[in-house]
Amino acid sequence: MKHAKKILGLIGHQVGYSLSPFLHNIAFEHLGLPYFYTLFEVYPPERLTAALDGAKALGFLGFNITIPYKERIVPYLDALSAEASEVKAVNTLLNQDGQWIGYNTDIFGFAEPLLPFKSQVNGSEVVVFGAGGAARAVVQALRQFFKPKQVWIVARDEAKAELLKEHFERRSKSLKLSACALNEASLESVLGTARLLINATPVGTDSTALPQLKTARLFPAEWKIWSPEKIAYDLVYRPQMTPFLYEAQAHGARIISGLEMLLAQGAKSFKIWTGQELPRDVVRAALQQQLKESEH
Ligand code: NAP
Repeated sequence: MKHAKKILGLIGHQVGYSLSPFLHNIAFEHLGLPYFYTLFEVYPPERLTAALDGAKALGFLGFNITIPYKERIVPYLDALSAEASEVKAVNTLLNQDGQWIGYNTDIFGFAEPLLPFKSQVNGSEVVVFGAGGAARAVVQALRQFFKPKQVWIVARDEAKAELLKEHFERRSKSLKLSACALNEASLESVLGTARLLINATPVGTDSTALPQLKTARLFPAEWKIWSPEKIAYDLVYRPQMTPFLYEAQAHGARIISGLEMLLAQGAKSFKIWTGQELPRDVVRAALQQQLKESEH
């Protein structure tokens, strides 16, 4: 009899547009591994613990965790990796002998594509747009892998930016952090001096994937911020060329696509589950093709 496949999946709310099943299943197929990755829509949030218990009873191998559960899931886990414990957010679970172990691969996933720019980032000012789960992983990555002079957390709700700043300041004061409201007047001086600008909000996501998002711009005169010495990093990967990246490139700035972070965090989760390297080039080419087709 054929052995059953090991089951993996993504737990979240409104997970229909995720590319994670495509990413992992292409890799499993390419390497001939007996694993299968699928989507699990879990809602309302009160169902989360029942979902975890059921998956454990059924012997599922692991999950990725996405909005709105990355932080909410933490109290239900048996152990956390050092990084997940630092940010109190989890995006990867491994069922290790009946224990749920939580990891955060977003941190390294964000850092890896930025490492070639390390000398430009170190000693420079950095702006992070957004104060949600992804922004939290971004700030942790900046603090763990780089030495920026200062990091500005910029959010439409300044109080949320302030809370994220305080979260990190409670742990260490080694990184200089400031909170700022997302409006042109308060941003004027910040944007002029920043070298690296990171979009950690969903702004710019294709309207078919996120119809409730009413704007593709963080603020009306977004284009004004770009010049050739700047670096733009957008966590959004659908479309691959977001308005943020398009403007940055048009003004001579270097750009990093959210697709690179998707691949890097996916590779790290893949390794946790399978012990093997993600066949990155095969998966990147397949993802680019898939995104291109869905953009037409
Ligand atoms: P989240 O926890 O919901 O946080 C979203 C942040 O964006 C919040 O600060 C939110 O502000 C802000 N925001 C939402 N709509 C906005 C708007 N119209 N204008 C200005 N700010 C807005 O989500 P997340 O987990 O941080 O994810 C953020 C984005 O990163 C998503 O698009 C996600 O797909 C992407 N991401 C990509 C990768 C990758 O591998 N490439 C990995 C992780 C996340 P409020 O709190 O005021 O709503």
